[in-house]
Amino acid sequence: MNRPAITLVGAGLVGALLATLLAQRGFAVEVFERRPDPRRVGYAGGRSINLALAERGLHGLRLAGLTERVMELAVMMRGRMVHHPDGRTELLRYGRDDSEVIWSISRGRLNIALIDAAEAAGARMHFDQRLEAAHFGDAVTLTFHDEADGSTRTHVATSVVGADGAGSALRAAMNAVAPLGERIEPLGHGYKELEIPPLPALPASALSSEQAAAQARGERFAIEPNALHIWPRGSYMCIALPNAEGSFTVTLFLANEGDPSFATIPAPAAARAFFAREFHDALALIPDLEADFAANPIGVLSTLYLDRWHHGGQALLVGDAAHAIVPFHGQGMNCGFEDAVELADLLAERPTACEAVFAEFARRRKPNADAIAAMALENYVEMRDRVDDADFLLMRALDRQ
Ligand code: FAD
Repeated sequence: MNRPAITLVGAGLVGALLATLLAQRGFAVEVFERRPDPRRVGYAGGRSINLALAERGLHGLRLAGLTERVMELAVMMRGRMVHHPDGRTELLRYGRDDSEVIWSISRGRLNIALIDAAEAAGARMHFDQRLEAAHFGDAVTLTFHDEADGSTRTHVATSVVGADGAGSALRAAMNAVAPLGERIEPLGHGYKELEIPPLPALPASALSSEQAAAQARGERFAIEPNALHIWPRGSYMCIALPNAEGSFTVTLFLANEGDPSFATIPAPAAARAFFAREFHDALALIPDLEADFAANPIGVLSTLYLDRWHHGGQALLVGDAAHAIVPFHGQGMNCGFEDAVELADLLAERPTACEAVFAEFARRRKPNADAIAAMALENYVEMRDRVDDADFLLMRALDRQ
């Protein structure tokens, strides 16, 4: 069956999965992505290095035929490993056994796997194409700036889907012609990423006797690999997710202002003193703390609310472009993958009824997106205000969804 053409803006996690699912269903899919092809020049991330993938997200990857490839890249996390201030650790399992787990996966490798899948399914990818403007007339005229050679090109589409992330240019263009009811609520806390390298790269002086023995046996992970590590400290915390090659990406979540905050530890030396006081067992394993602190930006965390996600049958927003959330359930990508599955199914049922499909998509997905946005915020407040076992039981229950 001859299905209509669909244009996507953004080949991030959600855009690339949606492109795959639509191309597999016979749509002629064109994808315009601002960044260069990550398979050619390496992945230019800018957001979290790795992510927690849960069943909700895995479902979409399964439909795209990516289970095997993704599982090769992922590290299983069976629970939260809580690091108490006195150095004690405690594993809080997500489920009764290892049938209820989540997975840590590299954002870059997952994105590349998805781009490969989209191309293999027949989607046409255009890299280095930054959407600059969209004009809504009888058709949608999109203007792209070529980031490689500085040229400008236009592309005319009947329907365009914006998967261009929290700062979506398509959303700005839609909002300019018919306001979407946009509200962006900053969290007031930011994040910074640091690294625990694989065991072989750590100096012997940094290691406990167990770690030294593991290093001597040729093991790669400095701390338990099959867990999401958390150092809860009341109004701030660190987490660490394992990477397949043996390192961990550590993320410090901290207020932007007040004491303590990113403002009170502006210099790497102050960051070391802060870690020595609050996260001393982690500090021993982060040899490049000062360099990481100086090199990595403070990430911004906000929640995006929109009253409307679509402009008739001409444009629709999905993923973070429609509902960016704070990351305290690790569910933003998982929720975006659910968007991709729902939209691909709806379009496959009614390929020429874009306006009705976009409206139905928003009707079905918006309550889910609103719910996870609220839960992610609540979870952070819980963790910030008190740290006791009740919080972790709550987090454990919610993480599994
Ligand atoms: P993005 O991943 O932002 O992709 C957007 C794409 O559009 C990019 O490729 C970008 O280059 C492209 N683009 C942008 N502008 C333009 C333009 N003008 N023209 C063309 N292309 C453009 N989620 C989880 O599920 N689990 C987690 O553990 C998790 N951890 C997180 C940790 C942190 C610190 C943060 C910040 C987020 C986390 N998230 C997590 C959320 C997750 O990162 C997002 O929900 C997810 O990346 C959304 O995917 P997306 O494709 O909608 O947007």
